[in-house]
Amino acid sequence: MQYRNLVKGAEDLSVLGYGCMRFPTKGNRIDEELAEKQIMYAYDKGVNYYDTAYPYHGGKSEVVLGKIIKKNGIREKVYIADKLPAFLINKAEQINKYFDTQIERLDTDYIDYYLMHMLDSLKSWETLKDFGILDFIEEKKKSGAIRHIGFSFHGRPEEFIKILEDYEWEFCQIQFNYLDEYNQAGLAGLKRAHELGIGVVIMEPLRGGSLAAKAPDKVKKRFDEYREKRSPAHWGLRWIWNHKEVAVVLSGMNVDEHVKENIMVANESLPGCMNEEEEKVVNDVKEIYRELMKVPCTGCNYCMPCPFGVDIPGAFSDYNSKYFFGGRTAQALYVGRSMGAFGIKKAGADLCTDCGKCELHCPQEIKIRDELKNAHKELDSKLMRAGIKVASLFMGRRSRD
Ligand code: SF4
Ligand code: SF4
Repeated sequence: MQYRNLVKGAEDLSVLGYGCMRFPTKGNRIDEELAEKQIMYAYDKGVNYYDTAYPYHGGKSEVVLGKIIKKNGIREKVYIADKLPAFLINKAEQINKYFDTQIERLDTDYIDYYLMHMLDSLKSWETLKDFGILDFIEEKKKSGAIRHIGFSFHGRPEEFIKILEDYEWEFCQIQFNYLDEYNQAGLAGLKRAHELGIGVVIMEPLRGGSLAAKAPDKVKKRFDEYREKRSPAHWGLRWIWNHKEVAVVLSGMNVDEHVKENIMVANESLPGCMNEEEEKVVNDVKEIYRELMKVPCTGCNYCMPCPFGVDIPGAFSDYNSKYFFGGRTAQALYVGRSMGAFGIKKAGADLCTDCGKCELHCPQEIKIRDELKNAHKELDSKLMRAGIKVASLFMGRRSRD
């Protein structure tokens, strides 16, 4: 495993961080046994940075991570990153309350890397300051309950720079991948943070899987033209580690092969490792994606739950799939979801009441309501509905309301 420094003068961290936002699940619960196996495999291979947050898995990510760390006696050997749910704070006293809950859930006395979660503008940071966050940080750092302070960001590039320059941050976390080189904080933000000596953690390196296994055939074909065979995930991660300004890349690894492959790529992708030919391959692939993608949804789930039951990332995934892989499968998935076929709950875009709640939380600033209408219009099909109805009857299952 390669190690890079995130905070000046602090410990070196594995360049691959374990993202605990997408633990493996069994039904709607975390598959704790499998999560432990995967975390301990990564730990044995040298991964020492584990990232969680208050809302991940409905609060269970912190609990499961804390349990695994304690059970295996590795608290002193790993670094936990956790985040204050800044977007839920509307009273000063809530800051300590959330922090205490997190310490309890993680079953630890301290958090190594603590971030203000999902700041999206200087205003969001100033609101926290109005609630007394600076005193909180000072007190927790003094007591050792927080070792390093940072923020995670989803928003416009100029707002990222403003937040960076407003406080003596030790590190920050941004979305960065070859499709988001100029979105959100982007390359300019990455470079500015580096100039200021603020370490950078990367999230969504594969855009919720869209740049990995779900990559369209055209993309895979372009990658395969290169003399060395690599998976789309390998290319995506290699592109990020090619940047010397990056310290840690978070990956949500919920399948054994992902853990193994990511570790292998982390071991071989050094800063400046990509040659001109490789850069040309990635540039061509970016072009292919730009032509195909309908909605830039990363599947982060920040817009969820929808009070009216719409599976927003699910609808966008089907919508993009139609353009990545062709229509039939995407339509069948979408129509099945919309009908509540095969025992699943109805969750189609047609349930949307236009309330707008989801749009307040989307880090990609997607016009969710408009795009849901587009998705429904393009994916719904009377013929497919009839086919699924017959298939449901044949399988002896009823659609659910
Ligand atoms: S706008 Fe539609 S999808 Fe968004 S929260 Fe409201 S009902 Fe749900
Ligand atoms: S619509 Fe936005 S908030 Fe919802 S999953 Fe997609 S990117 Fe995330």
